[in-house]
Amino acid sequence: METLLLDGKKAAEALLDFLKPLVETLDPKLVVVQVGDDPASESYIRQKVKSCTEIGMRNEHMHVPKDTSLDQLLEIVGRLNNDPDVTGFFVQLPLPEHLERHTPQIIRAIDPKKDIDGFGAYNLGKVFLSKDFEDLPPATPSGIVRLLEHYKIPVAGKHAVIVGRSNTVGKPLAIMLLNRDATVTVCHSKTKNLGDMTRKADILIAAAGKAKLITADMVQQGAVVIDVGIHRIDGALCGDTDFEALRKKVSAITPVPGGVGPMTVASLLRNCVRAKERQMGIDS
Ligand code: NAD
Repeated sequence: METLLLDGKKAAEALLDFLKPLVETLDPKLVVVQVGDDPASESYIRQKVKSCTEIGMRNEHMHVPKDTSLDQLLEIVGRLNNDPDVTGFFVQLPLPEHLERHTPQIIRAIDPKKDIDGFGAYNLGKVFLSKDFEDLPPATPSGIVRLLEHYKIPVAGKHAVIVGRSNTVGKPLAIMLLNRDATVTVCHSKTKNLGDMTRKADILIAAAGKAKLITADMVQQGAVVIDVGIHRIDGALCGDTDFEALRKKVSAITPVPGGVGPMTVASLLRNCVRAKERQMGIDS
């Protein structure tokens, strides 16, 4: 059996090509707020800015020092909320230690109409309602759903098993797959006998943040595997699955890098376009 490589770069290119003419017409502006100098954040922001530039989306990178206070950050968020030229913005996570515990408060302060990360309660609540209300869904789950659509992998009636229940990946993805008629199981750090669960998956999504957690004996023959994790080990990148071993057994799998990552970036830009449409009263 030939294993299909789910190429996130290609699927992201298709989404960006679709967005380009919309960007030209709607002229949205995206702003990234970065606090401090976390190296992983620097790399994610570079990718986001690069994709903006590729499709002609106006963007601004607001880089403030590591010792920025909560009040100062909330003041920046308030200014961006009130700036009519700013379509959407996000504060790159994780925040420096002194701000980290305030992350929910900072997310709450972002105007839901401009919350292009889709992390706020209003946009998450809309995802909960149905597929028709997924206007600004979180970018990673949205990217995964689009990747499956791009490769015409059916979801309805399939058993999707998600390993990870974070508010930004696992939980919203579970809802988005339910919205598409999958039967969904969500596993987490307290799940007993993880392999017994993952072996039942038609579609397995690994989002635990643990390098190579999913080994070949934990998947069923012919499953579709989406690897969300990203880790650097001895200078090389890998995901939450043992890619080379799984590749021989599954019907389709995402590479790391080049799988979910590019889809996350493209979905974020899609949210900025959608935010602009909503602000202009356009129904897409
Ligand atoms: P997180 O740490 O917030 O959540 C991890 C989840 O996995 C938790 O719910 C935890 O219960 C579960 N978990 C941890 N260990 C487990 C185990 N041994 N067995 C079963 N479940 C376990 O992480 P997150 O923000 O959801 O991100 C997950 C991974 O995805 C990370 O590696 C992150 O870097 C990566 N990520 C990648 C992208 C991308 O665009 N490629 C986007 C977001 C996150």
